[in-house]
Amino acid sequence: SGHVFDMVRHWEREDPGRIALRFGEHARTWGELAARVRRHATAQAAAGLAPGDRVAFVDKNHAACLETTLACGLAGTVNAVVNFRLAPAELAYVLNDSGARVVFAGAELLPVLEQIRDDLDAVERVITVGGDEDGYEAFLDTGSDSEPGHHAGPDDCFLQLYTSGTTGHPKGAMLTHRSLGAHSVAAADAFGFTRDSVNMVAMPLFHVGGTSWALAGMSRGCETIVVREIVPADILARFGPERVTHAFFVPAVFGFFLQVPGVADFDYSSLRCLGYGGSPMPTPLLHKAMDVFPVGFYQVYGMTEASGVFAVLGPGDHRDTAHPERLTSAGRPVDGVEVRVVDPATGEPVPDGQLGEFQVRSEQVMSGYWRRPKETEATIVAGWLRTGDAGRRDEHGYLYLEDRVKDMIITGGENVYPAEVERVLAEYPGVAECAVIGVPDDKWGETVKAVLVPAEGATLDEDDVIEFCRARLARYKCPATVDVVESLPRNATGKILKRTLRAPYWAGRQ
Ligand code: AMP
Repeated sequence: SGHVFDMVRHWEREDPGRIALRFGEHARTWGELAARVRRHATAQAAAGLAPGDRVAFVDKNHAACLETTLACGLAGTVNAVVNFRLAPAELAYVLNDSGARVVFAGAELLPVLEQIRDDLDAVERVITVGGDEDGYEAFLDTGSDSEPGHHAGPDDCFLQLYTSGTTGHPKGAMLTHRSLGAHSVAAADAFGFTRDSVNMVAMPLFHVGGTSWALAGMSRGCETIVVREIVPADILARFGPERVTHAFFVPAVFGFFLQVPGVADFDYSSLRCLGYGGSPMPTPLLHKAMDVFPVGFYQVYGMTEASGVFAVLGPGDHRDTAHPERLTSAGRPVDGVEVRVVDPATGEPVPDGQLGEFQVRSEQVMSGYWRRPKETEATIVAGWLRTGDAGRRDEHGYLYLEDRVKDMIITGGENVYPAEVERVLAEYPGVAECAVIGVPDDKWGETVKAVLVPAEGATLDEDDVIEFCRARLARYKCPATVDVVESLPRNATGKILKRTLRAPYWAGRQ
């Protein structure tokens, strides 16, 4: 029937006494989990929450968050899972945007909520999760063992995740029973989840890498371990004793793993699938990780708006010595996903090998952004989800990510992707760092500007840099001007802030 709770019913019937969910010292069987989810759903109804209402969950990872998500699905309400690291004002913004009437908040988060309590428009009640007085358990006690009368349809939203929002305010992506159901099938097939798998969920549950990854494993009846927070050495030490078969981490976490003393000496014998992704993994780091962990590596290319993963680079491709370049690819679309590559300026598909925007068509795609019809319309165009990622597809269907579409420069009607020019500039002797941006030009609309940081003691000659590029790139891609600066503006994670770099040139124009 396309309802996410169906999988819980299924495993409750098949395997009521087997462990479904572990968290800290708690282990719940499928029978217990199903009963708790029913109690939660009926407690919501008893508390006056109606289908379509939002609740919010804000805490470090907790099994109660997955229960709440499933219970909302059953009650017809929607769980908006919120990033617990947000600053107070950001948290207030997201909670107000969601319109949540009830907030489930980790005991550790109460002081922050107290601070913003007066700014919250719709919140009627805050229920504490964990701590000395566990309001969540008391709330469950107000429910019953029956199922609510309401039956959510496949296209009803049941999970709302906020996108990282590198531009503007965070937006709530509405994931439906259908989109998450389609994701679960595709991901479970791609990663090989089975009833015997033990799936570690360490990525935050407010992100698809946490919740969607967890639901995909649960759909196949595997045991799910929810990890409160990432402590690299603890995670490595848990793999063996807990017989973990599947886990997913962002590249930065693999970097932390490799710094743990004795990283090669832990027990990895149960591991089958290590997923990584969410951002580019530097190839040297990937090589080191593959040396240390003797298991199947899966690169995950995904996005909140697509319910999670939509392309995968599998273990065979990681060890394929005939095609070493594939290690730099984000893989191929999973089942049920079509990816096309489109010229963002014209909206027309481009041939294989050429750069364009990746667009996704699949049941996995969200129904839209909560209360933002304009942004939804700009993001899902004629059934295709615009990823905002620029890249190319090779003739074997592998996707190579190159750049962000919003950084693309249009000069005289030609598209220039900065990453391509930056790769050439990085080879110029004496260049320590570089960034390529578009600056306004009356004749061409925009022209290409290179901003360079010289290596220590080096001097850079503008004309010579341009000559160097002309020998290696089509004329329209070459910088028309070169600025030499002492440093480039970067964000906390080290990414160059192109917007900041562009701002002075565009002042008064946009
Ligand atoms: P989010 O919705 O927060 O998961 O962000 C999705 C974005 O993360 C994508 O549009 C990509 O820009 C980036 N991303 C996801 N997976 C990968 C990957 N495997 N390699 C490089 N970038 C990725």
